[in-house]
Amino acid sequence: MITGIIGRGVSGLAAARLAEAAGHKIKFFEDAPASTEKPSSSIFTGFDLLIVSPGVPPCSPVYLAALASGVELISELEFGARHFDGPMLAITGTNGKTTTTELTVHLLQALGVDARPAGNIGLPLCDICADILENKAGKGLLPVIEVSSFQLERCFKFNPFAAVLLNITSDHLNRYHDRMDEYAATKFKIFDRMPVERRVAGLSLRETPEFKLPVCAGNKITVCAGNLLYNGKLIVRQQETQLKGPHNLENLAAALELVRIYLGHDALFSPALKKAVCEFAPGRHRLEQVAEHSGVIFINDSKATNPASVIVALHTVSTQGRKNVNIILGGLDKNMDFSSLREFSGFVKKGFIIGQCRQKIFDTLNSSFPCELFDTFKDAVTAAARNSVNGDVVLLSPACASMDMFKDYKDRGDQFCELVINPDIIYQ
Ligand code: ADP
Repeated sequence: MITGIIGRGVSGLAAARLAEAAGHKIKFFEDAPASTEKPSSSIFTGFDLLIVSPGVPPCSPVYLAALASGVELISELEFGARHFDGPMLAITGTNGKTTTTELTVHLLQALGVDARPAGNIGLPLCDICADILENKAGKGLLPVIEVSSFQLERCFKFNPFAAVLLNITSDHLNRYHDRMDEYAATKFKIFDRMPVERRVAGLSLRETPEFKLPVCAGNKITVCAGNLLYNGKLIVRQQETQLKGPHNLENLAAALELVRIYLGHDALFSPALKKAVCEFAPGRHRLEQVAEHSGVIFINDSKATNPASVIVALHTVSTQGRKNVNIILGGLDKNMDFSSLREFSGFVKKGFIIGQCRQKIFDTLNSSFPCELFDTFKDAVTAAARNSVNGDVVLLSPACASMDMFKDYKDRGDQFCELVINPDIIYQ
């Protein structure tokens, strides 16, 4: 079997590793520099299978050539799933995927399941499958896969045991011709081959009338005044946990549904589950309070890369009684509409705007709350700190990707922490 691997990042390398472990001959393909000729589809003549990494845009010349070649073209996730012999759980959505994946793994492990985080979260499914083929991992493990829409685009047989679609809001529209319906249809593909009773829709998605959601009969857990209930019986109260804000209630409910579907509803009432729920805290760069100086708190929410996650941040901060927010916004645009942030004119004291799409954000929001443009991150952060008095918040929740000014969102969050932890830097 001769297999072409398109893209040489983390997913491409994992796909190559699995393909070689499974006895395929492989060759890598990458987009040629812009100056060289576009590849012809004949470069794929003689190949049996092509595996494309999620980072390769569907409009790129190499992707288009692969499509035109007629050779079967699948995603890294699909390739891994074809080599995994056992149940898998899958989690997708615009926001909350990583938190829900980590939480589900944590809960299942506490209940004795050998659950492993996989997919977009950092360890491609192909790596797990290669580990199994090479006897470096046992066959009985349960992958809990964070699935991006990019991975779903080229899935044809992927069929998780149970899956969650958390929410769908504006993001990545540059990849979907600016069409929300196209983006949503890609997300719905997660359910394509699954029985309805194992499909779970996030709490907010069930109330979103714009989409014709596929039937999801896996929603059995209800929420009443912050209490999570199954058949009217209390599982846990949100206030007993470290998961703050309505968005985390959505993530918790989804993780509990997956536990229920995989292990049965009795698992929801086990003391080990309750203990594990209460122990869990979301990862770094997600509404992480990193400093407090003279009554001003500094929150690193660098993982907020679209307007919906910023809305969640502003709601969460305001419910904690903090109503004067100096927010640092901006970065790399994904053709998103920032106008939904206008409604926060009552909470936002000022916007400190950076990055490639700063003028677009300024033009959208400056009539709702004062905004100022900055050339450097440090200037924006120090200005936000100096504009804050006792009781105010400095919030990094940029609504954009980070790669125009930073290595990634972690680098952006780390630079923020470095600046704000030391008051001598920001108030010098
Ligand atoms: P993802 O992996 O989908 O990017 P994360 O769990 O890493 O999700 O969270 C990304 C951002 O979205 C963070 O700013 C976080 O506070 C926010 N967030 C987390 N869960 C949700 C949710 N269910 N709805 C909206 N925003 C969320």
